[in-house]
Amino acid sequence: MKLLIIGSMAYDTVKTPFGERERVLGGSASYSSLAAAFFAPVALMAVVGEDFAAEDRELFRERGIDCSGLLTVPGGKTFHWQGEYGYDLNEAKTLRTDLNVLGTFDPEVPDALRDTPYLFLANLDPKAQMKVLDQVRLPRVVAADTMNYWIEHRREDLAELLPRIHILIINEAETRQLSGEYNLVKAGLKILEWGPKMLIVKRGEYGVLKITRDSVFATPAYPLDSVFDPTGAGDTFAGGFAGYLAQADDLSESTVRQAIVMGSVMASFNVEAFSLDRLKTLTKEEIGGRFRAFRELTDFS
Ligand code: AMP
Repeated sequence: MKLLIIGSMAYDTVKTPFGERERVLGGSASYSSLAAAFFAPVALMAVVGEDFAAEDRELFRERGIDCSGLLTVPGGKTFHWQGEYGYDLNEAKTLRTDLNVLGTFDPEVPDALRDTPYLFLANLDPKAQMKVLDQVRLPRVVAADTMNYWIEHRREDLAELLPRIHILIINEAETRQLSGEYNLVKAGLKILEWGPKMLIVKRGEYGVLKITRDSVFATPAYPLDSVFDPTGAGDTFAGGFAGYLAQADDLSESTVRQAIVMGSVMASFNVEAFSLDRLKTLTKEEIGGRFRAFRELTDFS
């Protein structure tokens, strides 16, 4: 099944204890669509400025990603995010957010994409996320992400969005910030009361927690000996997760669990290099190998 992803496309300036990169390709839509395209046909919606490089655009086209919804604003500048990580790689410190063309993004879903059955609303202004939801007819599954920036500045819009989605995928700090609860299970149950049927909490190197009204499922993250840049790990997780679900077209407990592990596999590759560099060289064989290694990692039968 086809998956429509809307989110940010960015140039990121990132510093980690292992190096720094200036104005490299990033953004929630970039990471998630590249990850999802390993599993399902993907259409991408985002906005960029005239400074967006042709080779960056080509990266998505050559993966067969439908870019008919990628808007270029003449004379505009691409969204720029600057962040820094200390040795605790689970927490990004945002130093600068230049919304640029993202500030006035008013997404218009191309006619041919209005019946797309799977929708992933990657991290973006919740108003823009809802605008997409308004235009897609009866999507089968809607998953969404958000971040501290929107929880702080657009809480009311988020409250409107939550009843309209099935799966919310956010990180641990965002779960606490959104709910006002420290305990993650309590926080999760509170958020579920506001609409979503399922909450997926990304916990960085500690893995993932899935919370529904009547069950909790947890996986570790894949233990790596080389982590360079955690930027985009959450988006890559969500892209792998949503792509796997769209491919399976099934929301059974076992498929959702497999999708969570596949998302974790994709995220584990992404953090091995800066920007989208690792996703660019990644192969299906490597993905399959790590998925099997993940099974062994958690097998105690
Ligand atoms: P994460 O998966 O959480 O590490 O997401 C990192 C990506 O989020 C970076 O590539 C940024 O370009 C993007 N990003 C940062 N702030 C925002 C924002 N306010 N809205 C949309 N995307 C953002």
